[in-house]
Amino acid sequence: MAGEPRSDCLFCKIVSGEVPATVVRESETTLAFRDINPQAPVHVLVIPKAHHADAAALAAAAPEAAADVLREAGAVAEQEKTDGTGYRIVFNTGAGAGQTVFHAHAHVLGGRGLEWPPG
Ligand code: 5GP
Repeated sequence: MAGEPRSDCLFCKIVSGEVPATVVRESETTLAFRDINPQAPVHVLVIPKAHHADAAALAAAAPEAAADVLREAGAVAEQEKTDGTGYRIVFNTGAGAGQTVFHAHAHVLGGRGLEWPPG
């Protein structure tokens, strides 16, 4: 069921503590932790604690939690001091767009210049 933890989901296991992660922020509804394979000096993932497959599913089922993810993503960028150079919030959605973990997550990327268009 939407929002329920899934035993086959890596990010649900990070929320429960079964899989360790370097947590940088936590709120009632979200968790922010460092990406294991960083693509920039700052690369933090912000996830809803509840399981939703992607950002659109999260926004449809739990719009307040989606807003929390965005607010926390901005707070991470501030905390990580990306203010001089800007930062990017990315939601890869679907395998063709590079999504590999099907639990909604925002990538917060910064600390270096970021090219456009992305690859
Ligand atoms: P996606 O490709 O779905 O947009 O992003 C998934 C992200 O999760 C990738 O950037 C990947 O490096 C990260 N990731 C995969 N496994 C782990 C893990 O066990 N711990 C952490 N912290 N990040 C992970």
